[in-house]
Amino acid sequence: MSQLHVFFFPLMAHGHMIPTLEMAKLFTSRGVQTTIIATPGFVKPIENARNSGFNIGIHLMKFPPEKSELPDGITSLDQSSDDVIPKFTKALELLQEPFEKLLEEFRPDCLVADMFFPWATDAAAKFDIPRLVFHGTSCFSLCTSEHMRIYKPYKNVSSDSEEFILPNLPHQLKFTRTQVPDFDREEIENDFTKMLTKVKESETRSYGVLVNSFYELEPDYADHYRKVLRRNAWHIGPLLLSNKGGEDDKSQRGKESAIDEHECLEWLNSKEPNSVVYICFGSMATFTAKQLHEIAKGLEISGQKFIWVVREGKNQEENENWLPEGFEEKTKDIGLIIKGWAPQLLILQNKAIGGFVTHCGWNSTLEGVCSGLPMVTWPVFAEQFFNEKLVTEVLRIGVSVGSKQWKRIANEGIEREAIAMAIRRIMEGEEGAEMRSRAQEYKKKARMAIEESGSSYNDLSALVEELSAYHRVTT
Ligand code: UDP
Repeated sequence: MSQLHVFFFPLMAHGHMIPTLEMAKLFTSRGVQTTIIATPGFVKPIENARNSGFNIGIHLMKFPPEKSELPDGITSLDQSSDDVIPKFTKALELLQEPFEKLLEEFRPDCLVADMFFPWATDAAAKFDIPRLVFHGTSCFSLCTSEHMRIYKPYKNVSSDSEEFILPNLPHQLKFTRTQVPDFDREEIENDFTKMLTKVKESETRSYGVLVNSFYELEPDYADHYRKVLRRNAWHIGPLLLSNKGGEDDKSQRGKESAIDEHECLEWLNSKEPNSVVYICFGSMATFTAKQLHEIAKGLEISGQKFIWVVREGKNQEENENWLPEGFEEKTKDIGLIIKGWAPQLLILQNKAIGGFVTHCGWNSTLEGVCSGLPMVTWPVFAEQFFNEKLVTEVLRIGVSVGSKQWKRIANEGIEREAIAMAIRRIMEGEEGAEMRSRAQEYKKKARMAIEESGSSYNDLSALVEELSAYHRVTT
């Protein structure tokens, strides 16, 4: 009998491409034939994986596609400003036709396609191929966002600052209206929100959902998602732990680092265990120069050693004016600023790192959990305000910096004292030690989940078996 063949189609954004590649590696190591549909901006990491022994196939997909109105040079969502997003959404729709041609030609046995391709369920159905959805987030946020969508509790409060409880969930989770995406609270309808509606609709018709998480991290929500929201779901993560690659695998994830990895490690290795806080807000969130300035001041007040990753701003003013005068000189022995892309996983797993200030993107959150780190949560947009609640209130391994405003770009408003206080709470004292100890427990559980007979290992075995049975019936 021929080998089971799975197609993976990631969204062009680092937070989606990195775990999709990990997923393809994992399936390959379990004897499945895998192919990634790659756009030009994402070929390099796949080639690296192939060079380190993973037999993953690649099909190149032209992006931007013919007839797209995307400006030249935009190859991923990370690069897209607010005005470009509608064009990006349109460009994703235009991929359906060339993608169907690939399905017709290669007839894989299963398609794992990113949530941003809602049309993929129908495309796959044309060729009797089961489609699995990959959201790239926690089951916790899949449940909470679905409850926000169904119950709309933000409609029942009289002010932006009044808290409401998200109903009918395993925990009493409180939010404010400003933490809800603007397009939901203002009932805006545009191409993007129409696409999100299609995502929900296609999810219920798809074969199921793959979750980059593990059962023991969010058991109540894994059960809720399956039993109450009635989705077929397989927890197969943490994907970042599944593939035991070398240091290169950890450092060259997605993009080339803006710092020499050896220099960075040398710096970390000269520091005491748990003495450095790592600050990074992922690949998409942007802050104003004023907010970056406050972060610098907050770091100074906190008195902690730090590695701070700052994405290059989109304009000159942001690039130049955010650091307080003399900051780099003053902190040269205790701090490292990385301007651009950092080798995040390599840094987080170094024993000198004692805490993580994160925007709560799911990959970063999971990387923090797998490194056993207490976190300062600073959500910005997307589903980050949900992940924050998981970290601070359910797992109790972090404290919130107090971010209250869901906003895609140019965030500001958090003051230096709040930043310093939150960092101290995770780095010092009894409270910090307790959070660290709980985080270390989850780190252990994460490793156990992916070992043979662990929960994620078993979930993947069950899925592969099920797909193989489907494959036997149809071939
Ligand atoms: N990342 C990295 N270096 C950076 C910034 C981000 O390696 O300087 C990685 C990070 O480790 C994570 C991913 O990029 O795997 C970001 O995904 P996440 O879901 O945390 O946030 P997003 O970028 O999607 O907002």
